[in-house]
Amino acid sequence: MRCEICEGIAVISTRNGTLCETHFKKKFESVVMETIKKYKLIRRGEIIAVANSGGKDSLSLLYVLSKNFGNKNKIISITIDEGIAGYRNKTMETMKKYCDSWKVEYCVYSYKDFVGATMDSITKIREGIPCAACGVLRRHMLNFAAMETGADKIATAHNMDDEAENVLMNLFQNDLEKMVRLGPVSGVVESDGFVPRIKPLMFLSEKETMLFSILNGITALHTPCPYAGFGFRGVMSRKIKEIESEMAGSKRNLIDVMMALRDTCVKNSTYKTISNCKLCKMPSSNDICEACLIKIQINGIKSN
Ligand code: SF4
Ligand SMILES: [Zn+2]
Ligand SMILES: [Zn+2]
Repeated sequence: MRCEICEGIAVISTRNGTLCETHFKKKFESVVMETIKKYKLIRRGEIIAVANSGGKDSLSLLYVLSKNFGNKNKIISITIDEGIAGYRNKTMETMKKYCDSWKVEYCVYSYKDFVGATMDSITKIREGIPCAACGVLRRHMLNFAAMETGADKIATAHNMDDEAENVLMNLFQNDLEKMVRLGPVSGVVESDGFVPRIKPLMFLSEKETMLFSILNGITALHTPCPYAGFGFRGVMSRKIKEIESEMAGSKRNLIDVMMALRDTCVKNSTYKTISNCKLCKMPSSNDICEACLIKIQINGIKSN
């Protein structure tokens, strides 16, 4: 397999081309930059908080953003420590090391400080799939952390595979409201107290992100979360991989359908307005946001 640009040995073949190491790395960064430019994800001078899980995706994103925007924007790294033994604590050192070498401020916020309980103890006292509560708390805490650090945007490392999973999950859950909040800028509703989320890697696949991290010597620790794979997301992830192997391009088609639907809904304003949680004042479609409900539930159970 030969690179379509220089005839050198190709390292990958995707819809972005059959490319050698040098041209693949250039293409990867150019897709990120085109996504940022096309959807106006980052403006000069903005403070960008990268949600850093320590995985290959978020470290690759942090690397590309600090390399290309470090001199005109402040890039910070925010890690949410869920409090899962043997998982997050192992990746913290690696994250800190990369942040130091890329001259990026490294901040950590924990569930323990916010809810008063680690994810490990939440799973023991709260019924249901751990990822449901964990996802709510992480989104909430990221928004809180971004506001506290003065960030203008939160950059998440969702790739095309993640976004396709989101589309399918919302489709099967008949949740158009949530689906139209997907896309390169999450949340079509502008609201005070909501820091917009951007997804610069949205048009790159998991395979491309993995290869980019390896070729750049970014060694993420691949310690899986012990609670991963139990939820609906795990099922969707497996199904999408099966479908993609039978019909190449179906992942991207899912994204394109969502984007078309999103544009129509935004034009017709067929989405609800957002108010604020009565307790934490953060944006919420209900009187009390889901994160505060979890907090109340956990502390209620703990005190009984
Ligand atoms: S896999 Fe689930 S429980 Fe584990 S960190 Fe992710 S959302 Fe949280
Ligand atoms: Zn080449
Ligand atoms: Zn709240």
